[in-house]
Amino acid sequence: MNFDLHCHSNVSDGALPPAEVARRAARNGVQVWALTDHDQLGGLAEAREAAVAAGMRFIAGVEVSVTWRGSTLHVLGLRIDAQNDVLAKGLASVRGGRIERAKLMAQELKDAGIDGAFEGALRHAENPAMVSRTHFARFLAEVGAVNEMKDAFRKYLVPGKPGYVPHQWAALADAVGWIRGAGGQAVLAHPGRYDLSAAAMDALLAEFRTAGGEAIEVVTGSHSPEQYRQFGAIAAQQQFSASRGSDFHGPQEGAEFGSLPPLDPALRPVWRDWGL
Ligand code: AMP
Ligand code: MN
Ligand code: MN
Ligand code: MN
Repeated sequence: MNFDLHCHSNVSDGALPPAEVARRAARNGVQVWALTDHDQLGGLAEAREAAVAAGMRFIAGVEVSVTWRGSTLHVLGLRIDAQNDVLAKGLASVRGGRIERAKLMAQELKDAGIDGAFEGALRHAENPAMVSRTHFARFLAEVGAVNEMKDAFRKYLVPGKPGYVPHQWAALADAVGWIRGAGGQAVLAHPGRYDLSAAAMDALLAEFRTAGGEAIEVVTGSHSPEQYRQFGAIAAQQQFSASRGSDFHGPQEGAEFGSLPPLDPALRPVWRDWGL
């Protein structure tokens, strides 16, 4: 079966409403599909209805923003109970402060010669409270400050560049605890994207496991084929389950549904005990 367990709608930083994301996934051959908006559960009801109508199995998901040793990490929660109160409250606390951060980001961009970034980013954000670097990247591409969105994450918006404002997200153990408390499985998202030494990655994986984390994302739009092998090997050696998801955000923005290879069949998939 074709699993895609990571993507975004315009409830967070995706470009399309949840139902459109669902139909696009189904059109591209996805059979078991999770919506995993950042720090938000607001799209799940619409996504579920559209997914079922399109003939897919639906998995309720979320992608929690975490600060670990000063780095930003993402932890996916899969098969969560979207009604769980502790999870909802935890996510609400993580979501806070994005507007204030966006104002500071815009001020830095203004100092770098780019005006109107706050209003410009908000124009791309369906939900202003969820304004993110992705919305700034869309704005920067729109005004020609960069040729394409991914360049915005090289020239701007990253540590050491204008428009990067550090933010305190959830603690790792809290994020994993909320997910597990809501009956979900915790998956470390796109580990290849983190700028960590091998020793720090080992420490992260050890802490993640202790907190109750059980899987790492191996095949994702954020990884190169070399990284599929690298993190597949880490999953196998350290007995983590493996996950697969495009991290689709929008048309012509990174990976598309149905474009990634399957997981290596030698790996234990995160869905092994889902009874599908
Ligand atoms: P924020 O939560 O506001 O810090 O924004 C993080 C979002 O920016 C991520 O969820 C990605 O969608 C996007 N992002 C971060 N780094 C990159 C990158 N190197 N390339 C493309 N998108 C990125
Ligand atoms: Mn995103
Ligand atoms: Mn992510
Ligand atoms: Mn994501």
